[in-house]
Amino acid sequence: MTQAARIDARTPLAAIQGVGPRTVDRLAHLGLHTAGELVRHLPLRHERRLAERSIAQVAAEASDEPLNVRLVGDIAKVKARPGPRAMLEATLEDGTGTVRLVWFNAGWMRGRLHPGDRGVAEGRARMRLGYLEITNPKWMAGEPQADTDGQDDLRPIYPASEEIGSAEIEAIVARVLEGVCAAMEDPLPEAYRRRRDLMPLAQAWRDIHRPANRADLERARQRLAMDELLLLQLGVMMRRSQLRSRTRAVALPLDAQVDAHIRGRIPFTLTAEQDRVVGELVQDLSREGAMNRLLQGDVGSGKTAVAAYAMLLAVSRGHQAALVAPTELLAEQHHRVLSAMLQGSQVQLRLLTGSCVGAERDAITAGLARGGVDIVVGTHAVLEGGVAFRSLAVAVIDEQHRFGVRQRAAIRQKGQGERPLVPHTLVMTATPIPRTLAITLYGDLDLSTLRGRPPGRQPVVTRVVGSEKAPEVYAYLRTRLDRGEQAYVVVPVVEESQSGLKDVARHAEFLAAGPFAGLSIETVHGRMDREDREAAMDRFRSGEAKVLVATTVIEVGVDVPNASLMVVEHADRFGLAQLHQLRGRVGRGTGRSLCVFIGDPVTPDAAERLQAIGASDDGFEIAERDLRLRGPGEVFGARQSGLAPFRVADLARDADLLRLARADAEAWIDRDPDLTAPESSLLRRKLLATHGAALGLGDVG
Ligand code: ADP
Ligand code: MG
Repeated sequence: MTQAARIDARTPLAAIQGVGPRTVDRLAHLGLHTAGELVRHLPLRHERRLAERSIAQVAAEASDEPLNVRLVGDIAKVKARPGPRAMLEATLEDGTGTVRLVWFNAGWMRGRLHPGDRGVAEGRARMRLGYLEITNPKWMAGEPQADTDGQDDLRPIYPASEEIGSAEIEAIVARVLEGVCAAMEDPLPEAYRRRRDLMPLAQAWRDIHRPANRADLERARQRLAMDELLLLQLGVMMRRSQLRSRTRAVALPLDAQVDAHIRGRIPFTLTAEQDRVVGELVQDLSREGAMNRLLQGDVGSGKTAVAAYAMLLAVSRGHQAALVAPTELLAEQHHRVLSAMLQGSQVQLRLLTGSCVGAERDAITAGLARGGVDIVVGTHAVLEGGVAFRSLAVAVIDEQHRFGVRQRAAIRQKGQGERPLVPHTLVMTATPIPRTLAITLYGDLDLSTLRGRPPGRQPVVTRVVGSEKAPEVYAYLRTRLDRGEQAYVVVPVVEESQSGLKDVARHAEFLAAGPFAGLSIETVHGRMDREDREAAMDRFRSGEAKVLVATTVIEVGVDVPNASLMVVEHADRFGLAQLHQLRGRVGRGTGRSLCVFIGDPVTPDAAERLQAIGASDDGFEIAERDLRLRGPGEVFGARQSGLAPFRVADLARDADLLRLARADAEAWIDRDPDLTAPESSLLRRKLLATHGAALGLGDVG
């Protein structure tokens, strides 16, 4: 206890009494160097501590049925048997009897057990050939921990390594926990804590390690989860408030004449859903506060027309618009669609991508700077490399799931000065994002959702088959190709490789020589230069080519209504969201489309992905399933987002807490936008340290 007073979060583990240099090394391998890091090394779970029993008691009860036991005693004998299974055998005695402890495949246990050692063995005991035996017991060297006065008597189970076990970590945590907790300051003001019934921070840290009972453990978990959620939401709200108060955008009011003019340019009547979303956008655009809106809508839901509306509104008011796509192929596609819309108008539209260089590029950038160019479509090359606009009023970022939060930051930070002008920003994604994640990742954006599909669309028929069925699949496709339909064939790799996976060139050759002999076949992949790719796409779009063999470059945005057939080879290799995106390339005309996924899954996850894609064509359902399969870190670029991951909060489990955190953060930032009130100062410091860089909050005050 005297020592506890001197320990705080920064105390090196080497300075803790009773922690020797070997142990310090082993902890270092787990990334633990200080007392604070050790306290943040959270238990994976808690187990009920077993009551200690004597060996004689257990022997009297044991039979062939294993019995969970905890036995304390001294090691009498140790016998190691080398070999492929590396067996280790020891005898434990406690004065009432003996028990045999047996470890298989446990080379790491060797050298850790010596005759005379005292400790605790836990595991499943059973009688074998007249002897009491425990196979692969948990061994905790030393005197057993004194029983606490806790009711449930829970013990923490820590992430451990082969070098250092959970019990040893538990013992060291016990030495530092009180000191670290006593020195802890609580960033949440007491009044807030009381209102939300949250336990004090120090108490939460104590209880997350050594709770008296399950109820306290859950309250501790909630408190720590709330800290994480609230901190992120405060950051996101602070960012939103800063963007609003420190920047401005040009107001783009709409009137009936402009509305009619814009609609006249769009080659179809907007659906009711599109109208509703356009209404949401128009509201935002008419104000001086910059729009920051996320538009989510399943593949083929018709997002482009909504974006076009916003861009044309900017142009009709004498300003500029930019449309940014994740791939050149998609940028080219958007450019084509907009060109068709704008045929015969005065609007100057340009395509600016990475393959656009030299004089061509210079002419476009000059046009953007002087105002001669009204709309630019491009890849993020547009965002980078110092492209300046005379007056960029609307920026649309398509297929956001390919971008991180950072790219969003990039286009918005273009403006300079006291209250710089920034564009209204519309971010679009075809990956429907479960609400909890949307709030977390894109919490600074307002959300619009486009449901349903444009009229006349029929659902895509989906089949999932093993590779032995491929000949049949191609033979059937052939009959439909002969009737005038067109097909995509997707393979995972560009070039022949060690992997044994089908590549674009060889698979195209195979099809040309066999099932699709006599049909015109084109190929497209990411490593082609723009002219070749555009030429190939043109031949496919025009119907001259019947088959397009491609990599996943066609995943986003490609829109060829007559292409109603798709085959995805090695489908087990692709992610669930990706499979759904690929399938979205067909079903764009009025005919009945077919998508065949060919794959031989070798893992349970792959099998589940294929099962899921076959079972549903609802993007929202698929996104939820993807989230469950992969976890939020992998989905939707959460990992690339640069945001600090949660340690305690779990988006599935803590959805209610998240809603609360969001509402509280919003109110908090409304009251105190930069968290400058004295009671928020600790919170503010913690917020900037945790999320400041990722959210671009570093420059605050
Ligand atoms: P996504 O949301 O995947 O970007 P698109 O904007 O590419 O979808 O639209 C998919 C297809 O639907 C395009 O061929 C587009 O021309 C067509 N489309 C969109 N809106 C309508 C509409 N209101 N009426 C008819 N066709 C539409
Ligand atoms: Mg699109």
